[in-house]
Amino acid sequence: YNVQDYLRSHIRTVPNWPAPGVQFRDITPLLQNPKVFRVLIDAFVHRYMDPHLRPDVVAGLDARGFIVGSVLAYELNVGFVPVRKKGKLPFTTVEETYELEYGSATVELHTDAVKQGDRVLLVGDLIATGGTMLAGKRLLEKLGATVMEGAAIVDLPELGGSQRLRDSGLALFTLVDFA
Ligand code: IMP
Repeated sequence: YNVQDYLRSHIRTVPNWPAPGVQFRDITPLLQNPKVFRVLIDAFVHRYMDPHLRPDVVAGLDARGFIVGSVLAYELNVGFVPVRKKGKLPFTTVEETYELEYGSATVELHTDAVKQGDRVLLVGDLIATGGTMLAGKRLLEKLGATVMEGAAIVDLPELGGSQRLRDSGLALFTLVDFA
């Protein structure tokens, strides 16, 4: 069987949420079923166990990127660091603001989350416009780390985000596309 099709069949599409016309891809059924959750995590573990691709640190994007990212870091035996929405981190931070369709958003990272030269894997749940992942990449680079790859469960290629990220020089690995 095909892992992409198996995972796709366990993603729920919710029409008109959170706004009319939006088809929301809901990944919670992937997490809820232990067999599917294992297939999901193992797909990432298998790739990043490779000595050429094994990161020094896994960074997760708030909030669903924490779920996959933390389990993956545990399995790879490397540390996990959260990239958080503004106002959640208690220590000194770097921050990055980016534009949304309506308004803007700011993400933060603790200044000691990564060291100069660290090779970081940046994990999110889904790439839409790519703005969140690009902001996370910039934060990690501000601290002198190298983002070796971005990983997500879902890519929505029609929104152009994955192309935009690749154009900015970020390699990407995603498991399921929704055209
Ligand atoms: P981006 O910055 O536009 O790429 O948006 C990425 C974030 O928006 C992801 O981390 C998701 O959490 C969220 N998002 C946007 N669309 C969806 C969707 O259809 N399903 C789940 N999350 C979504």
